Amino acid sequence: MSRTFSAAELALPHVAKLHAYTPGLQPTEPGWTKLNTNECPYPPSPTVAEAIRREVGTDGASLRLYPNPASAPLRAAIAKLHGVGPEQVCVGNGSDDLLNLLMRCFCGPETAAAYLLPSYSLYPVLVGIQDGARTAIDFERDMRLPVEQIAASGAAAFFLTSPNAPTGVAFPNADLERALRAFPGLLVVDEAYAPFARENAIPLLASHPNLVVVRTLSKAYALAGMRIGYILAEPAVIALVDRVRDSYNVNRLSQAAGLAALSDPGYYTDVVERVVGTRDRYLRRWSEGRGWFTYPSQTNFILTEPRNARGESGPAVARAAYDFLYARKVLVRYFPSHALTASFLRISVGTEDEMLVLDHTLDAWLKANSSE
Ligand code: PMP
Repeated sequence: MSRTFSAAELALPHVAKLHAYTPGLQPTEPGWTKLNTNECPYPPSPTVAEAIRREVGTDGASLRLYPNPASAPLRAAIAKLHGVGPEQVCVGNGSDDLLNLLMRCFCGPETAAAYLLPSYSLYPVLVGIQDGARTAIDFERDMRLPVEQIAASGAAAFFLTSPNAPTGVAFPNADLERALRAFPGLLVVDEAYAPFARENAIPLLASHPNLVVVRTLSKAYALAGMRIGYILAEPAVIALVDRVRDSYNVNRLSQAAGLAALSDPGYYTDVVERVVGTRDRYLRRWSEGRGWFTYPSQTNFILTEPRNARGESGPAVARAAYDFLYARKVLVRYFPSHALTASFLRISVGTEDEMLVLDHTLDAWLKANSSE
């Protein structure tokens, strides 16, 4: 009799022990105030839905055909937007796709990737898929960029989220430049949230060939559902990524949607201004009004350390606040696994109405625990 089939035994040992990335909850039933995955609270430009409808046509005939394999028109539009050559751009199925491709190119059992903790929790997962060597560096509570440690990390590629997630803290370009000069590897600056920040690393590309900037249309362009990201880098880096990516990694409708979004910059300037305005008001309200320690955010989310009615904070308090909100269908994000985030909640900036619901529910939590 043949032995029982065991996929786990047949798999590569490092794959058998992988833990998948845990995305934020995406509830399917209505009624949630959803402030947990840093999506844009406003819809994309109306040009996007129009472009998708045009691409589908009346009978979907164009869907028979493969999309442009290199997303060439979208690369050209992105290049124009940022004042670089199209050979410095690669487009991906979300920026996660590109982070994965960069990891495939620059991380393996003998070639380390490095990252900071806490930052985007996908990086360790991608290193794991490569069975890669790694260096993880802890932030201090002040969340400043540890330039010397980055320089000495020994990694081929350093993955830096800037502004950082889940803290929202931005790093000045002067610090990024010091890191770029001192670090002999590739500095991958994941700028998912840079449209909400005062500075970004794109002006540094011209003078630093070891810089790779990763961007997404998921946040500021309100297109998380379409999965579009891109990188800007030296042509030699783009050529490597092009060798390992799927030949049709961005689908036809996403390419059309991306192009349409980039054609309406005025719309998105307004969206970003609204989000930043709401963010700054709630940041002040929680830090000054409620007296909660809150990191200065340059993103579309806020990391705040709730205090209960007795003035206590800490992991148990943050967990209690999370549970109270969840029970009332207000969804935020809680990261218990790192000491620097375990006392905090990460709250995505929503519409004015959503933020009011959240803030009133926080008032109700304080009222409930004052009588405990
Ligand atoms: N980088 C960071 C820092 C993020 O928070 C996210 C969103 N979870 C991503 C990249 C991935 O974005 P995308 O939707 O483009 O894959």
